[in-house]
Amino acid sequence: MRSFRVGVLGATGTVGQQIVHRLRAHPWFQVTALAASERSAGKLYKDIVRWRVSEPIPAEIAEMPVEEVAPGLNCEFCFSALDSSVAGPVEEEFARAGYAVISNSSSHRMAADVPLLVPEVNPGHAALIEVQRARRGYTSGFIVTNPNCSAAGLVVALKPIEEAFGIEAVSVVTMQALSGAGYPGVASLDALDNVIPLIPGEEEKLESEPRKILGVLRDGAVCPADLQISSQCHRVPVMDGHLEAVSLKLRRRATPEDVIVALREFRGAAQARNLPTAPARPIEIRHEPDRPQPRLDRDAGGGMAVVVGRVRTCKVLDIRMVVLSHNLGRGAAGAAILNAELLAEAGYLQNRNSHIH
Ligand code: NAP
Repeated sequence: MRSFRVGVLGATGTVGQQIVHRLRAHPWFQVTALAASERSAGKLYKDIVRWRVSEPIPAEIAEMPVEEVAPGLNCEFCFSALDSSVAGPVEEEFARAGYAVISNSSSHRMAADVPLLVPEVNPGHAALIEVQRARRGYTSGFIVTNPNCSAAGLVVALKPIEEAFGIEAVSVVTMQALSGAGYPGVASLDALDNVIPLIPGEEEKLESEPRKILGVLRDGAVCPADLQISSQCHRVPVMDGHLEAVSLKLRRRATPEDVIVALREFRGAAQARNLPTAPARPIEIRHEPDRPQPRLDRDAGGGMAVVVGRVRTCKVLDIRMVVLSHNLGRGAAGAAILNAELLAEAGYLQNRNSHIH
């Protein structure tokens, strides 16, 4: 029996669809409410969603009505995949009304009292929930966020290297998939046969979010990691999967082989707690000279593993490597579901043991 009733805010969007799809046979969570804009509200999900997942809409979801995004939904907690233009106040409204909100949106990620959570990297930051509740007067509700889709893969790859050798500086150049821009996203006449060297706001996120995630929680606040990050972000004509060329300056000397061992042996709280959608290995190493590649490697670990290859000496900094992660799995829907699993397992989600209906 699945024990948590779950709502999806922004259920019709690119990320919302992935959440619906990924929860179709989840052992703990059952989707019981779907919400989207007033354009969709009042219609059946199957009639309004532009379904872009290769498997069909789960039968029990297809016939469900889409509701307006407002508290009162039949669920114990919500995933939010709302457009960032509306997510901020809506997520606060839900938290105030007593719902836990597990959000993909950027609106609250950098708020001092909101966990920016990656189960393998900073599970202890969940303790900020108590700080948030006390500060904002929420009773049972709260907001937890997952990182930007490029930061999500990067921090998993950085964590074991930071632990083993310390990282002083990161230079990262991204090649980001089209699905990262939502639907309809970048116009085909801009995207095809082209690379666009600007994703508005992305470089700022990639330079700030990892410092919070890799930071230390002390006295109810995150002290950001002492780490310089320079990023350059590009939109490329790939459907799914963000590729990142990363160079690192380390605090202690390490060979590429030392780095590979640290990456390969890394396991986090998601694996230790055996969370249902945690990949067995959060990082997969490819040794072929031309991997990872988006088309071949993005589905590793169900789209939740970060694939690292081409680990070698950098002639300017110390170590360079290529990192690939699925922007909708590890970078969005999968990340939010893994966060919810961590929070459920740690007792942060209210399970009212009520009937699924
Ligand atoms: P999307 O495809 O454009 O979907 C946006 C969703 O928000 C739709 O369900 C839409 O409903 C709903 N919405 C829009 N305006 C609304 C309003 N005024 N009131 C209520 N609902 C409204 O976007 P997406 O790519 O799924 O991204 C969703 C969120 O996740 C964004 O905050 C994005 O930054 C973040 N994110 C995306 C990715 C990615 O790889 N795509 C990765 C990480 C984070 P209608 O269908 O009814 O318009």
